[in-house]
Amino acid sequence: MVSNKLISTKEELFEKIATYDISILPMVKKAYDYAEKMHNNQYRKSGEPYIVHPLNVAYEVALMHADGETICAALLHDTLEDTKATYQEIAYLFSPTIAYLVDGVTNLNNLDMQTKEAKDMANYRKVIRGFNKDWRIIIIKLADRLHNMRTLEYKSPEKRYYKAKETLVYYAPLAFFLGSHNIKDELEDLSLKYLEPERYAILMNEREEIALKNASMMQEMLAKIQEILNQNDVPSDIIIRIKHVYGIYREIQKGHNFYDIHDLLALKVLVNEVRDCYASLGLIHSLYPPVNEKFKDFIANPKTNHYKALHTTLFTPNERLLQCRIKTYEMDYEDRNGILSYWADQKKKGSLDSFSDLVVNYPFLETIGQMDKIYEDDKEYMEHIRTEVFGETVYIHLKSGQIIQLPKGSTPVDVAYSISKEVGDLAHMAVVNENLVPFNYVLKNNDRVQIITREGLKNPDHENWESYAKTTRARVLIAKDSKRV
Ligand code: MN
Repeated sequence: MVSNKLISTKEELFEKIATYDISILPMVKKAYDYAEKMHNNQYRKSGEPYIVHPLNVAYEVALMHADGETICAALLHDTLEDTKATYQEIAYLFSPTIAYLVDGVTNLNNLDMQTKEAKDMANYRKVIRGFNKDWRIIIIKLADRLHNMRTLEYKSPEKRYYKAKETLVYYAPLAFFLGSHNIKDELEDLSLKYLEPERYAILMNEREEIALKNASMMQEMLAKIQEILNQNDVPSDIIIRIKHVYGIYREIQKGHNFYDIHDLLALKVLVNEVRDCYASLGLIHSLYPPVNEKFKDFIANPKTNHYKALHTTLFTPNERLLQCRIKTYEMDYEDRNGILSYWADQKKKGSLDSFSDLVVNYPFLETIGQMDKIYEDDKEYMEHIRTEVFGETVYIHLKSGQIIQLPKGSTPVDVAYSISKEVGDLAHMAVVNENLVPFNYVLKNNDRVQIITREGLKNPDHENWESYAKTTRARVLIAKDSKRV
């Protein structure tokens, strides 16, 4: 899974950029020259000239087809922290936006704090605040972290452990919420590799073994599916996928057996149109029967990070389950590039322009913004981000068919206030699946929830609801209410 997409020359970066936007090359070349000059005589722990690091960070964002400002900022991202470069100079030589982006990924200096932890918390908060204004900061930060994780072997064991832990807690979830699944998977695998090296090696081996053992079966299924799709005029590309190591690790932590992981082996089926997805689904089921309760339609009900696909798990001739993920080429492109391609796409359509538009489309951004206003203490703030936003979540189906993602431990109070303040305030009864439940009922994954409101009559238990709420959003809206009354 851990790929090696490292580059060592600027030409490789320029070639990559030329494949999608040749007009930004002059600016990128200028940024490269400036960064190289500034980092002159600096070296990484690996012994390479320092410029190799920003070069690779820029390459990573170029793989996502980032715009010119993002690529320049990626090249310059360490100049404020580690060289004589200044904000004003970058703003003057390049642009104020590029200077803002570079500053956004730069750690605060002269922090008047005692512990490393307190400094870290303040720095995380700065990054999160910065990307509240321009989310491209987080794309650069993720690419920065990815390259640092890929080259972590050169650091001391203590540093490795610390960075790996930090990556797992903050950066991998961020990548997930922004819809960059490839980055998320790689960050998780690299973290595990340094946090539990022996475990990682064992799982990696077992994974290889299973892949090898089932290779011919998967090839055969691939060929059969391709054949039936061809016969029915559905052109497709099919790719074999094996679950990433950390994904397997997590399943095993949950008590699942290697044989029990329904998506360990997978086929990714790519087609042109949405209707081809559904047609393919029917054709595939005619060859291999599905496990009924494992079918998911993320096209009609996309995940909150905009992930779209049909998921179906099939019984196979080998008595091993195999997951089929069916999607269009466009969905796959968005899945690989996350928020960047979503942004580019919406801009083309002219329907998104500012960050506030984006917030509506990525609910976790809104939550993060709210938390920033509520929690003054950096540590408390980051603790809420860690547990409430980046922690374990449950998916809840609303009566409207919409799926919402809430932190584990959420109750119908959280559901009601996630719909609107009005629904929360007037909520009278909560029905989960087919049963009436109290408002402190702890929701489980895939629960169907209906909130029944009643005008002018508060639920008698309402005064306790603040203590039932798990989400900051619900607590804020309840507190607002009690102040007004
Ligand atoms: Mn860096």
